[in-house]
Amino acid sequence: MGSEDLKVNVAFSFTKRLKFNERFLKLCESCKNYLNNGGCPRYSLPFRKVLDVNKNYILVGVKMNYLKVYPDRHPYILRSMRHSDWASLKFLNNVLSCIHNVLNGEKTFTFYAGNCRVCRVCTVPINNVCKKPKFRRVSPEAVQIDCEDISKRLFGVPLVWYKAGTGILPEYIVRVSVITSKKPLVGYKKIILKNLKRVKFIWSGIEYDKEVKYVKDQSH
Ligand code: SF4
Repeated sequence: MGSEDLKVNVAFSFTKRLKFNERFLKLCESCKNYLNNGGCPRYSLPFRKVLDVNKNYILVGVKMNYLKVYPDRHPYILRSMRHSDWASLKFLNNVLSCIHNVLNGEKTFTFYAGNCRVCRVCTVPINNVCKKPKFRRVSPEAVQIDCEDISKRLFGVPLVWYKAGTGILPEYIVRVSVITSKKPLVGYKKIILKNLKRVKFIWSGIEYDKEVKYVKDQSH
C-alpha cells in the first residue's frame, strides 16, 4: 500500500449555491436498499423544504483512495471496497461531528451521505413513523442535491462507482454532506479549519494520513 492509499482528503466550503439534479433519484432506485430506509427519496423528499428556509450551506466532503490491498484477487477486492466504503462513511462522520461541535448552539440541519442507520430496524418504510426524528439522517441525493457538483467543487473530480462484477475498483471514493442554516456561518471558517486538522482518521487499526482544505466559493 502506498501512502496515498492511506490518505483522507477533507474539504469544506461555504456557499449560497446548490445545484439540483434529478438523476440522483435514478441512482437511488438502483440501490439494493431502495425503499427500505427512511433516508430513501419517497420518505425524505419532503425535507427539501428545509432548503427553502436554510439558504446558507457548508459543503463538506471526504475523498480517499480505495485500498488496493489485493489487486488481483477478486473476492478480496470486494472486501477492500467494503473496508474503504465503511471507512469513508466513518471519516465523514468524524468531520461532521467536529464541525457540529464548533457550531454548537447554531441552528442547523444536515443532509448526511448514505442511508439512515440510526436504528437497527428502520420503521419508516413499515408504518411511516420515524422512531428517532431528532437523529434522523436524510441524504442529499434524496432531496436531489447534485452531489457530483459538490465533489467537483471540493475536490475537482467527478463521482465514480464500482461496476458490479468487474472486480475493478475505481480509483477513489468521495462522500459529501451539506450543513444548512438560516444564518451565514462563514465566520467559523478558521476555527473549523483548525479543529479539523486535529481530527484523527482511524479504521480497523489503521491511521490514515490527512489533508484538510478550505475551498473558497465565488458567492463569498
Ligand atoms: S431514525 Fe431510525 S426510524 Fe428514523 S429514519 Fe433513521 S433508521 Fe429509520
